[in-house]
Amino acid sequence: MRVLAICCHPDDLELTCSGTLLKFKKQGHDVIACHASNGNMGHVEIMPDKLGKIRAAEAKAAADLAGFELINADIDDLFMNSADQEQLKKLLRVIRYAKPDVILTHPENDYCSDHQQLSKLVFHASFSASVPHYYPELGAPVQVTPIYYVDGARGINTVPTEYVDITDEMDQKEEMLKKHESQLKWLSEHDGIDIVEQQRVHARLRGLQCGVSYAEAFTQLIVKGRMRPYRLLP
Ligand SMILES: [Zn+2]
Repeated sequence: MRVLAICCHPDDLELTCSGTLLKFKKQGHDVIACHASNGNMGHVEIMPDKLGKIRAAEAKAAADLAGFELINADIDDLFMNSADQEQLKKLLRVIRYAKPDVILTHPENDYCSDHQQLSKLVFHASFSASVPHYYPELGAPVQVTPIYYVDGARGINTVPTEYVDITDEMDQKEEMLKKHESQLKWLSEHDGIDIVEQQRVHARLRGLQCGVSYAEAFTQLIVKGRMRPYRLLP
């Protein structure tokens, strides 16, 4: 299978679904990871131009650790907009390039506007990518792809329909998150937040719900054309 994860800011993929992607990879599937936003506003002291480059490098280091192909759609933080046709075209190009069998992305009711808008963009782009005469210059049409929504921030607003046991992947998931040094340092020094610990607590809670040590949780998009008669998640 070809698995495409489209998350928003550069560390969202690690926080929400990297354990599942690692498991997909271990099972021999192709994993393509995309961070739609460049993360350029995620700091007070480092200016956006410089920070965007730092965060792209951090995301690349995390993806390299896991062996994922990484795409940076390079949309500025806080500018994610489902009505922006240029952003839609960027995601359309990513989806047609990836030719995914399954897409992971944020739920539409997540905590920040960028995540909500990206969710809408992915829904729209992954349908329109199947239409041959819709921006044909952006690649050959692909199937309407099943979507699984990753957990909401802190699990809020998510009632999982599927769990993935990531017990064996938990340490590597953590190592990937640690590659996002600018965020870890900033959040720790200025907000007293340890996101590595938070991530472990979150995965432990989802694991508790399904009877394993650590898990990631998902909800499936149930609409016409998006379901398959077999399990897609590992
Ligand atoms: Zn985010």
